[in-house]
Amino acid sequence: MSQELNLILLGPPGAGKGTQAARLVQDFNIPWASTGDMLRTAVAEGSELGIKAKGFMDSGALVPDELIVDLIVERVRNADSADGFLLDGYPRTIPQADALAEALQGLSRTVTAALLIELDDEEVIRRLSGRRVCTASGHGYHLDFDPPKHEGICDQDGSRLIQRDDDKPDVIKNRLEVYHAQTKPLVEYYENLGLLRRFDGSRGQTEVHDHIRAAMATLRLEETV
Ligand code: ADP
Ligand code: ADP
Repeated sequence: MSQELNLILLGPPGAGKGTQAARLVQDFNIPWASTGDMLRTAVAEGSELGIKAKGFMDSGALVPDELIVDLIVERVRNADSADGFLLDGYPRTIPQADALAEALQGLSRTVTAALLIELDDEEVIRRLSGRRVCTASGHGYHLDFDPPKHEGICDQDGSRLIQRDDDKPDVIKNRLEVYHAQTKPLVEYYENLGLLRRFDGSRGQTEVHDHIRAAMATLRLEETV
């Protein structure tokens, strides 16, 4: 019986994975790794990874598995992940999921649950078109659903808010296609393993959060019986 929480957040772009991750890491006190944030940092720093990844990200394609798998394997092996972790934006393909399972197996661990936040394509487009992020640390806002107190300024750190280049209409369309073709098969993958938990991402942020917390509480109860 394990009390570790090795969690994965799945769902289309804009479903609210980052928004929920920020809340869940506080609830459970586990580290959070967002491959999107890691890649954007690499691009901003102009590192070798960033230089290789940029073109894929700009067009809405996935970065090749071989560029991303080692980052995550290293992350879950890190000492601060010993009691669990929350992965946001990884895995995005079946080979990435296999690589994670293998790395965890090497540590005699497994994924505890894959939390799927569901949202239909039309709503994804509204979410991504209105998303704004802060330039200092990527805090997220939405022009209609979660506006900042002062227009264009982050409530948390006062930095400027911008629209991500890949949140512009032509790239959004590609990202949705990529999600359906390459990432959605993971829903069945985790369902077959009995690890999938589904959440209705069209609900408000607090409601989605409450639903996830309730599901996690049930999961922990099941583990202890
Ligand atoms: P993801 O990490 O899945 O791409 P985000 O967490 O960045 O998604 O959310 C996408 C956009 O939708 C952001 O602008 C965010 O403020 C907004 N958002 C997140 N969750 C909700 C929700 N439940 N209802 C309305 N808007 C939301
Ligand atoms: P969102 O959740 O809004 O789709 P992310 O911030 O997770 O966006 O990802 C932005 C981009 O970074 C993706 O479109 C893709 O190019 C790249 N990316 C992020 N995570 C991965 C991953 N696990 N595998 C491949 N590419 C990734």
